[in-house]
Amino acid sequence: MQRESKEISKATINTSGKPKKGEYPYRPSETRIFDLIHTDLAVTPNWENQTLEGVAKLTLKPYFYSSDKLVLDAKGMVFSEVSLKTKNSLTPLKYEYDSLKLHIQLNKEYTKQDTILIQVGYTAFPNKLSGNGSKAINDDKGLYFINPHCRDEVKPRQLWTQGETEASSCWFPTIDAPNEKCTQKISIAVDTSLITLSNGILTSSITKGTYRIDTWEQKKPHAPYLFMMTVGDFAVIKDSWNGMPVHYYVPKKDSANARGVFGNTPEMLSFYSHKLGYPYPWDKYHQVVVSDYVSGAMENTGAVIHGKWVFTSAQERIDYNNEDVVAHELFHHWFGDLVTCESWSNLALNESFATYGEYLWLEYKYGRYRADKQLRGDYNAYLSDTPRVNLIRYHYDHREDMFDRHSYQKGGRILHMLRNLVGDDAFFASLKLYLHNRAFKTAEVHDLRMAFEEVSGQDLNWFFNQWFLDKGHPILEVNWSHLGDSLILNVAQIQPLNHPTFKLPVDVDIHFGGKVKRKKIWITKRKENFVFKGLGGADAVNFDADKVLLMELNQILTPEEALVLFKESDNYRTKLEAMLQVRTDTSLTTWELFQLASKDNFDSFRKLSVYFSTNLNYAKTDENKAHLLEKYNTDPSSSVRVAIVSTLYNIWREDSSLLSFYKKALADSSVNVKLTALDIIDILAREDALLRAYEFEKETDPRIIRYLSRMYSAVKDESKSKWFNWAIKQVEYRDKSYVISKYSKYLSEKDNEIVWKACKKLKEEAIYENNKDVRYTSAVAIHKLRERNLKRIEGIRKDIVDKKEASRGKPYDLKLLEEKHQELLSHDKIMEELIKTIYNLEINKNIREKYERRGLLNTEVPSFKSVVEPY
Ligand SMILES: [Zn+2]
Repeated sequence: MQRESKEISKATINTSGKPKKGEYPYRPSETRIFDLIHTDLAVTPNWENQTLEGVAKLTLKPYFYSSDKLVLDAKGMVFSEVSLKTKNSLTPLKYEYDSLKLHIQLNKEYTKQDTILIQVGYTAFPNKLSGNGSKAINDDKGLYFINPHCRDEVKPRQLWTQGETEASSCWFPTIDAPNEKCTQKISIAVDTSLITLSNGILTSSITKGTYRIDTWEQKKPHAPYLFMMTVGDFAVIKDSWNGMPVHYYVPKKDSANARGVFGNTPEMLSFYSHKLGYPYPWDKYHQVVVSDYVSGAMENTGAVIHGKWVFTSAQERIDYNNEDVVAHELFHHWFGDLVTCESWSNLALNESFATYGEYLWLEYKYGRYRADKQLRGDYNAYLSDTPRVNLIRYHYDHREDMFDRHSYQKGGRILHMLRNLVGDDAFFASLKLYLHNRAFKTAEVHDLRMAFEEVSGQDLNWFFNQWFLDKGHPILEVNWSHLGDSLILNVAQIQPLNHPTFKLPVDVDIHFGGKVKRKKIWITKRKENFVFKGLGGADAVNFDADKVLLMELNQILTPEEALVLFKESDNYRTKLEAMLQVRTDTSLTTWELFQLASKDNFDSFRKLSVYFSTNLNYAKTDENKAHLLEKYNTDPSSSVRVAIVSTLYNIWREDSSLLSFYKKALADSSVNVKLTALDIIDILAREDALLRAYEFEKETDPRIIRYLSRMYSAVKDESKSKWFNWAIKQVEYRDKSYVISKYSKYLSEKDNEIVWKACKKLKEEAIYENNKDVRYTSAVAIHKLRERNLKRIEGIRKDIVDKKEASRGKPYDLKLLEEKHQELLSHDKIMEELIKTIYNLEINKNIREKYERRGLLNTEVPSFKSVVEPY
């Protein structure tokens, strides 16, 4: 699974107040009582009621011990039949149901030599499951109907599922645990205007009047959380790999983007198959883009679901793309789908690998610098994830808590270290062995260690113990000095004492006179020093020269050392650290370093050289201004052009001659450049900026919509209400919540009539929007407008009292005020009703509780005695 937009997804998570390790219960893997061998489903979605009618035929056998009781996971269902099916008969079975588990009493005790077939007729009510969700997914009702009644003219009508972690049992009865695996067949009855997607191969498609039954068969076993079903109206763009179908199910109106987003999938299939020594193990590889998805993307076997955010336009791809997500989900098809974590405690065996799969693809396709940049992003993401916990955790609060930046980013970094420790050949040979050993089965971390030990011949307990089974990372203080002709390197591990003292192999590059000598050292103690004879005249020391270790390194570089390292190292992170270390320095050496960086092939360095020069006097010259303007015209990287536009403003704020340049930048191919320029024009010439903004009003790019909503939230122009109502429909999830909150701000200063119309639109979102956070934001927006109304009521009452007391008010004035008062009161009444309706129709328990806490339901108008005399 991939969270949406890695940078923001976890920024809001509150981890404070988490109990310490050991206070949470031990989370064992699920006990195997019955083994599910095959699942055969026949389902019919009911769009009207948002329910699913199904018949499940489950083939099972006792796992080892004999048993006469079968327990199935089945959440929020109603059953019409629970029977034992034999060749000639159907025997009804007794069962008990507690809304989560179906306890079936079998007609006798069965042994592991027996195979039984249980038939369950059921209706699933996903909307009755008020979900919790997690950091990775924001809901957990398993089955989602999008725009089921076609109320929304922009949003397509769709149905999709999200199984991980244990929500597949919201739409079919199963044994919902990652250590269960079975084959699968699913027949879906749909309107002929819609198409379907599920795991495996489409084996039949039979039309009967206005509906059609599609049957998909997955003949290799996989875990229930990987089952999927999608129904909708998609364009299907067809690729293939080695004769195997590779299809992209995408929104019809934007189908031209499909190859731009997914086009490298066949090459990824070749690359991973070759690198892992294990050809892609499934029958097909399809990817579908859905609306209002609750997660970022999900690795359902052979049928990956992507949230709409992954499906970038050509315009977006000028500035960024989400190919790492495409790689992540595909890599899961070996790590996760083929070999599955035995329990959620071992989730790192899925997610750390998928995260590292991103690195491998980027390294192969775009080079080491691009991949190392990704790895540094992972490092920063992990550092922000506190408290530090073990990567493999047998004690946790909720299984969804496992989907954090430890399981993903820290784990990916650890695999990178492991690769560097054993070497490329041993690393990939070990992965190959692990995959072959555990294919179509599950694994825990020791399976991985033993594969590495078997291949490399090394005992690796120390590595796995300190990185997988313990917490934290080394924080090193490093400095060096000369002593005669020797170089003395001092290293101290200063991480908390309750974190391990790490054993670390370190490559140290010693730079002298344009040459580099590499020394390998092992760090094993809290404090150590190393003496290198004959290297006393070194210019710089590059500790962990390939920047492979997961650590915080405190080593201060002088500008001279930084310059040497930037010049002589061919490592992204080394060069980056050199730039970061001197970013506040103002010496000529630093300017020289930035000049060098400005010509680098890697655009990040060119970009930073522009930003970091801002404080240097050497940069504040006409010559440099001319140079930047010239560079703007020639640099192919939009991130560099953004840096140039904003730096020109930051250095030459008073220079009005640059206004024409900023206006020219509005025509840049990159939206990031356009918006940076617009932001500056907004400061320098507000009216002009508003006119320019108007020209962007038809753009559906989420960045432009966000920008305009922020800009418009403070304008008086009443006609922007129309744009807001349009914009809300063009975006989803976080972008949509953002636009709604800005709209609410915009409305706070507008007339009642506009506010009233807006409330009707917001009510639609608060009730019918699929995403619970958007529903919440919309309801809160209405509540805020109601509070504004109440303030106005208060104000008008004060006026009435004042006028009455001063006896200055003519009866006529008072009557007008009283009429206004009544009008506002009746508005309040309607808004109160609106909020009550929203509350009563909210299906998610947590959101209802949030409304209560927010006081949406107990806001009341204080009583007030009218003072207007009848006349
Ligand atoms: Zn994942």
